[in-house]
This record gives sequence, C-alpha cells and structure tokens, in this order.
Amino acid sequence: MMQQYFALKREAEGCLLFYRMGDFFELFFDDARQAAAILDIALTSRGEHDGQPVAMCGVPVHAAEGYLARLIKAGCRVAIAEQVETPEEAKQRGGYKALVARDIVRFVTPGTLTEDALLEPRRSNVLTAVCEVRGTIGIAACDISTGRMELEECAPETAGAALARLGASEVVAPEGWETAPEDAVLRPREDFGSDAGEARLKALHGVATLDGFGSFTRAMLAAAGGLVAYLEHVGRGNLPFVQPPAARSGQASLAMDEATRTSLEILSSQQGSRAGSLIAAVDRCVTGAGARQLADDLGAPLLDRSAIESRLTLVQWLHDDPLLRADLREVLRALPDIGRALGRVVAGRGSPRDLGQIRDGLAEARRIGDFLSAKPDRPVLLEQLLPAMGGHGALVDLMQRALVVSPPTERSQGGFIAEGYDAALDELRGISGNARRAIAALEGRYRQETGISALKIRHNGVLGYFIEVPARHGDLLMAPDSGFTHRQTMAGAVRFNSLGLHEEAGRIAEAGGHALAAEEAHFEDLTERVVEVRLRIADTAAALARIDVAAGQAERAAEGGWCRPRITEDTTLSIEAGRHPVVEAALAGAKSGSGERFVANDCNLSHDDRLWLIGGPNMGGKSTFLRQNALIVVLAQAGGYVPADSATIGLVDKLFSRVGASDNLARGRSTFMVEMVETAAILAQAGERSFVILDEVGRGTSTYDGLALAWAVVEAVHSRNKSRCLFATHYHELSRLAESCDALTLHHVRAREWRGELVLLHELAEGPADRSYGLAVAKLAGVPREVVSRARSVLDRLEQARSETGGLAAGLGDLPLFAAAAHALHEDRIDPVRQKLDLLDVDALSPREALDILYSLKRLVNETEA
Ligand code: ADP
Repeated sequence: MMQQYFALKREAEGCLLFYRMGDFFELFFDDARQAAAILDIALTSRGEHDGQPVAMCGVPVHAAEGYLARLIKAGCRVAIAEQVETPEEAKQRGGYKALVARDIVRFVTPGTLTEDALLEPRRSNVLTAVCEVRGTIGIAACDISTGRMELEECAPETAGAALARLGASEVVAPEGWETAPEDAVLRPREDFGSDAGEARLKALHGVATLDGFGSFTRAMLAAAGGLVAYLEHVGRGNLPFVQPPAARSGQASLAMDEATRTSLEILSSQQGSRAGSLIAAVDRCVTGAGARQLADDLGAPLLDRSAIESRLTLVQWLHDDPLLRADLREVLRALPDIGRALGRVVAGRGSPRDLGQIRDGLAEARRIGDFLSAKPDRPVLLEQLLPAMGGHGALVDLMQRALVVSPPTERSQGGFIAEGYDAALDELRGISGNARRAIAALEGRYRQETGISALKIRHNGVLGYFIEVPARHGDLLMAPDSGFTHRQTMAGAVRFNSLGLHEEAGRIAEAGGHALAAEEAHFEDLTERVVEVRLRIADTAAALARIDVAAGQAERAAEGGWCRPRITEDTTLSIEAGRHPVVEAALAGAKSGSGERFVANDCNLSHDDRLWLIGGPNMGGKSTFLRQNALIVVLAQAGGYVPADSATIGLVDKLFSRVGASDNLARGRSTFMVEMVETAAILAQAGERSFVILDEVGRGTSTYDGLALAWAVVEAVHSRNKSRCLFATHYHELSRLAESCDALTLHHVRAREWRGELVLLHELAEGPADRSYGLAVAKLAGVPREVVSRARSVLDRLEQARSETGGLAAGLGDLPLFAAAAHALHEDRIDPVRQKLDLLDVDALSPREALDILYSLKRLVNETEA
C-alpha cells in the first residue's frame, strides 16, 4: 500500500493527498501532521515505515467538503485519490490480496473551486496565469465558478496593478521565471507557449479561429495556454466551464496599484475584512452574482465616458421610480445563483438541485424581462440586456416537466425526475410501490398467522428486508415447517426471511435499480442540454447581475441622498458637499447620543488650482476628506451615484493614494522605505489626468528629512506630474510653497479652542492652518494635565527660538524649483565606513567578530583617505 501511496504522493506535487480508504479520506506523514493541526482533529498512527510509526489522520468522506474548505482557506492545495475499482474487481484482477487501484481524480485548489460550500456567495473566485513574452506580461484570469475568462497584456511596471485589480485566490506562473509573483504555483514552461495556448483555446471552444472572440496578443495567448493547461491538470483532463476569452485592454479601466487599493479599502478593510470597506458601505445587491459584479465594477472603474453614462442612466431610471425598484428587487432576491450552478453542471459536478436552480432562475429571468419590457422610457443599457433575459423557453419547459419541484442535492438516490415525464419510469415506480404495499400487507398477515403482534417487517442496508420478532417468540418461527428461514439472532430479537417477502423484496430491488438507471439517463440528458446552451445561460446570469447592481446602486443612492455625477473629459474635480460613505455610515451607526454628524465638505480642483495643501490638527478630518474624494471618483467611474450634493468629475486615468508610514506600522519592511518606494511610483507614473492623494507623506522619518521630502514631492507633483492632488500635512512650513507654485492653494480643517477645550469642526476652509493644536489634541486624548502643561512651556521656548531664526524652513522661500538637483552629486556621495556601521547589528556580534570588524573599518578609513 505504501508503494501506491508514494506513487500518488509524487503525482500530487506539493498538494496534501486525500487517500480514499472505505468511508474515509486518510492523510499520512507530514500531510497528516499539517492537516491535523489546521483542522484540529486527532493525529494517530498506523504501522511503521523505515522503523518509524506513520502519522495518520482522516476525515469522513460524507463530511469532506467542510474540511476541504478549511484546508483551502489555510492556503493548502489538496489532491483527491479515489478508489477507481471495487474490492471485487481488484480480487478478480489480482487475486485475494490485491490492492484496490486508486487514482488522483481531482485537485482542489483555491482558484479552481466550484462547490457552493467552498465559495463565498458575494465574492468572485479568480484564478490567474501570468507569464512574460519578450518583455511584455500576459495575464489570463478566469472565475471557474462562473466560467468568465479575460486576457490582458501589460508592461512589467503595471503588472502589479493589474494583478491587484484581479485579486486572484491563486496565481500560476512558468517555472524558472525570475520575476514570477511570490506565491505563484509554478508549472512547466511548455504550458505557456503562445501557439499551444491558441491551440488549446480553439480546441476548448471548438473553433477554427479565435477572431470571433476578439484579437489577442502573443503574451495573452501564452498566459491563456498556461491557464487552460493548469485547469486540465487540476481536473485530471476534465475541464470546467470556461467561456470564450475576452481581451481586456490595460487602458480600459482606472489604474490603481496595490498600495492605492489597500489604502482606499475598496474591497476589504485594512484588517482584511469586508466590514469597513467601500463595498460594504455601498453594496445593496440582493443576489450573490450582483455583489460579485459590483466588486468587479469597483475594482475596475471605467475610463470610457459613454459606458459610464449608460450605467448611470440605468441607475437613474431605477432611482427615480422607487416602486419599480422595490418590485424588481423583490423578485431578484429570490433568484438562485444560476451562474454558479451552471459552473458545477458544466464541470461535471452538477446535482439535480443545480439543474432545478437553472430551471427556476431562467424562468424567473424571463418574467423579469417581460416585466421590464413593459415599462416605458427604457435606458439603452437595459435594452441591450433584455434579449439575454429570455430565449430559454424550450429548455425551461422541458426541465419543468422533467424535474420535481425541489430536486435533491444527492443524485445517486434518485427521486428527482417528476411523475408523468417518463411512462416507463412511472411504471417501475408503480411496481416498487405495489411491492411495498404488498410487504405491508404481508406484515399484517404474518402477525395474524403467528399470533405475534410485535412481529415487524423491517429493512436495513445489510440484510435488505427481513422479519423481526422479539427473542422470546423466536422458537416459534424456528420450527422447520413454519415457512420462515432464520437469518440472524440479535440480543433481544431474532430475524427471519420468508419466500413471500423474498419475492416482493426482489421486485422492489429490480424495479428500483431500473428506476435509478432511468433517472440517471435523464439526468445525463438534461445536463447535456444545459451544457449545449451554456454560453447563453451565462449571458442571462450576467444580465441579471448587471440589473441587480444598478438596482442596488439606485437603492443606496436613495437611502443616502446621493447624486448622479456629471462626467467630463477635462481635468475638473468639483464635488459639492461630499461625504465619506464608510465614515458617515459609522457615525450614523454609532451609539446615538454622541451627537456626531458627518460634516460634508466641498472639493474644487481644476487645472489652475490643481493641488490643495491641507493642514490642521490631528483628528481634524484630513484623511477622511482626502479619501472621500478618491472614493467618489471610484464610485462615479464605476457607474454609480456618489455621496455628494453634486459632483463633476473629469475622467481620472490613474488614481494614487498614499498614507505616511506611521499609519501602517504593521508591515515588516522599514515603513519609511515602503513609503518612499510607493511615492517614487507616483512620481514616475502620475500624469495630468491622474488624481493623487497624499496623506502626511514624509512623516515616517525625522522632522528635517520629512519636511524636505514632503516639500520636494509636492513641488514635483505640482510642476512635473501636473496631476490633481490633495496633500495633507502637519508641516506648517509647506505653506510657503504657495509662493512658488501657482496652481497650489492652501486649505485647512477647522478647529477651535473654546474655554481651553479643543473643538474639531471637521470643516474644510481656505487658507493655511493657524497652528497645529497638538497639545490640545494630546489633552483631548487624556494625556495628564501636568505633562501637557510641561509641554506647553517647552513649546513656548521652541516657538521663541523659531521666530528668532526664521524657523525650520528658514531660507527655503528663495530656493528655486528643483534646485536640489544641482546638489545631488554631493549628497549622494556615500561614506563607506558609515554605511558599514549602519548595517552592523552590534548585539549579534561575538567578541572575535567585533575585533575583525574594527580592523576592517580601520582599513577602510585608510583607503578612503588615500
Ligand atoms: P486627520 O487625518 O486629520 O488626523 P481623520 O480624517 O483621521 O483626521 O479623522 C479623524 C476622525 O474624525 C474620524 O475617524 C471621524 O470619526 C472624524 N471625522 C473626520 N471627518 C469628519 C467629518 N467630515 N464629519 C464628521 N466627523 C469626521
């Protein structure tokens, strides 16, 4: 057995191996240790290998899904090895001691799930393949649960942003590729050939050319090849549902890199949960498919004005008619998830219940379509969606006749084909029904004949039907001429058979077997019909999701008094009474009594006033203001209403959001280093159509460094990138930039000290902040009175010194723009001794090492001086 196990384990390549033994999947060795720890189940041992006991743990087959879900969540991949013959077949093949043959029938990996229990209803589950072809990156992405596939090509610099947008749960990349994403699953290089990829796609969709689907570059095809090859590998040759690929241009959506997505908390909060994210504050979808579509929309806001407008017009149509919206949402709410049911059916893992869901979903889609078609003034987008809502009449009809009202998830027990669909099946059911009645009659007769009123005819999986009497009556039936034959003696009962019972039971078994086979054949047939029209069913699912998104957006807008944004092609960003949807909801939801209400603020950027420098006290609302404007851009370009009284948004091509280091200390690398790397990316990529928010950038280092960097970054964004930008800072000194940067204006969040108490007004006003209120904030935070007053006297001293010397930024006023460049050479000269000392971890040195280093430092000094 171990030999077979090891062979399978080798094939499983880094996956945990679920080894089927009877009613259990067993895991051995390290697999067992790892799984037992994750699943918190008992670790036992079985036999020995190389003189060591073999660690083992197991999960029951019928409950395997739940355990799989937890392993996948923990980041494992699992190979499932099933028995592929019965023990009888094994004996026939190899004699009495033969081992049942086993084979890996499937790999379960995070990106290739279809089971409802393993998927989150409101989140897409994306698998991506990435590779490089002659300096460009190809990305193929597929949501196996619904079959959607997208191909994209981009430059190496923007690949990170593209992958961040996709948020894949599993990434596949070629072996030996140096810049492969860190946690990628590596697959053979050959899988990622563009010719092979093209051939695979053609074979998959049975076409001679891919032209009908769009035009694809070599990098796209190579990635697609890698993806399909991986799917084949994982399904052991069984391919899941994959729709024809759509080419996606990297320029089709608002570019946001990973740091921006994280800091704006678009699909998940910094803590990694959905709660507290933008989508949680916006999502009013009533179907899982709608919620997934909304996540896609918010993750990839559009750049095309007319596409945005057409989404907005649909939202407005539903917004302006609350009754229509309510009716529509009511019916949508009851819809089954046909997209995912379809995914399972096409992957060959469908159940009768999945077919039932497709039937009900399609029938409902048709009714929704009819209902909407009857309404006047339909928006263009709706007109485009309506045809996909119907057209399944014949299939729905067939499935309505064929399937019972609520088909079971278990297919092997039968009972899902409706009465009246197949006369032969009905007859078989009649036979077993009659036989069951006959058996009931037999029980009465035997009771009478034997006089044993406690006699029962029962059934179990081992014996089939049998007659049971209490032990004390056993002898009576044991008599040779009783007509009963003994089968089993239990503690309190004795079991018998009889000729009559045997015959009836035989009828049931035979008819039942035939009935099951008939149902199975019908199941196959229905599955095939669904598979045939899978693309049209997927279209219907997508249309329903799009309508749900629009209705949900309309609902959210109505709830919060949001407005339809005006989209323009210039570089305006004008928002009146804007709000932060998450903070506003949090304030509204907080214990009433705090009396806090969200204070709406305006933002008014244009080409000539494109950079706002925002000062004011900590906790004053600077970050909130920055982010609310970025979020409004995301919402608007995703085609939804925005939390403001009015908004005019000049299309943004790239959105950047950065937060000064000390806000996310949780990261491992030097946080200041991260801050600078991320800032560098903005300076390299942002352009005139971009929108940048920078929150206390420069804070992660000493005051002088920080101020100097912040100064230089503001200058560069203003004069080189020329992007629209909101820059929050507590460095007063930066206000002097207004003198040299003509499109920069000063703003602050207002605060007041009232009877010695600080009152934060969360209100944005023009002009520089008068002071920082740091001590007042400290007092507000509960720093002891003595400490605050001590700080007050220190501050007085500092301020006195500042007014005498001209302060921290003395002399900066006449620093010409980019004058720094001239000094660059000088500043960049590195002192090797200092560098070496910087890198030293003194505590980790042995005395001997310390001495060696001293010698080498001395040598260095001599060399540099020479
Ligand atoms: P800063 O960046 O200036 O330190 P934040 O933007 O982090 O300040 O805001 C601090 C807190 O103030 C927020 O958590 C929120 O509770 C509250 N707040 C911010 N903006 C507003 C606003 N416009 N209206 C009401 N409360 C606000």
